Amino acid sequence: MFGPSLFIQPHYDDVPLSCGGTLALLAEGGHEPRMITEFASELVDEMVGEFAAWKHERWKVKDAEQVLAIRRQEDAEAAQALGSSVRWLGLPDAIYRGERYKSDPELFGVLKPEELELTAHLAEEMRQLPEWRDDMQVFVPLGIGSHVDHQLVFETGRRLASGGVKVFAYEDCPYAIHTPAGVAARLTALGNAVGEPVIMPIAKTLQKRLESIACYRSQVPVIFRFTSDFRATVTDFAIKTGGDAGPAERFWPVHAYGGSR
Ligand SMILES: [Zn+2]
Repeated sequence: MFGPSLFIQPHYDDVPLSCGGTLALLAEGGHEPRMITEFASELVDEMVGEFAAWKHERWKVKDAEQVLAIRRQEDAEAAQALGSSVRWLGLPDAIYRGERYKSDPELFGVLKPEELELTAHLAEEMRQLPEWRDDMQVFVPLGIGSHVDHQLVFETGRRLASGGVKVFAYEDCPYAIHTPAGVAARLTALGNAVGEPVIMPIAKTLQKRLESIACYRSQVPVIFRFTSDFRATVTDFAIKTGGDAGPAERFWPVHAYGGSR
């Protein structure tokens, strides 16, 4: 899995949380991996509805401008900690897309059909990025936990795979950590959209992954509210994932539409 790589994260934090060890390994190997945050639009107060305001309160930030500044600062620090650049794209996070998703059950539910149509556009947008190289492999979230934005980026990955790009799906953390049954459920739902998983040992860069996660100061208390020690929790999960290989991250090859490879 070494080579020029593009890591797409739906939100500020998904790549460091889920596969920061692999990204850091590629960076250390001189492969110049690049991070892209997909749903990172500018924010104005008019975009913040009741549901989004509740989220902001949990993050302990008040106005929209402050949210944007804090989250981008954290993302930039995390990318730097892993040895990568990060680019922010202009789509609004699902919680800011008008009245489409107004509660957690909707946010972690079924993708609206009009949004699924977006994925062709998103895949094309990836190919137009200054970071893009035709020999690149692309990493997208598997979509564990079913967050609609994660599902959208996974489907974008399928579009790219259908266009001949090598695509891998990373296991979305913290969902994969606190709800292991969600991994099995998502894999069942995906059927032959993904192939046999690949294990990437990350003993050498696990510490960097933990440091990069710590950069998301506004998010860590919310993301890891199920544990008092996120470092131990992430480390245990990596050890469990790797088994005999030691701490590891796991990736699922993404198949083209209608194909099994
Ligand atoms: Zn996310």
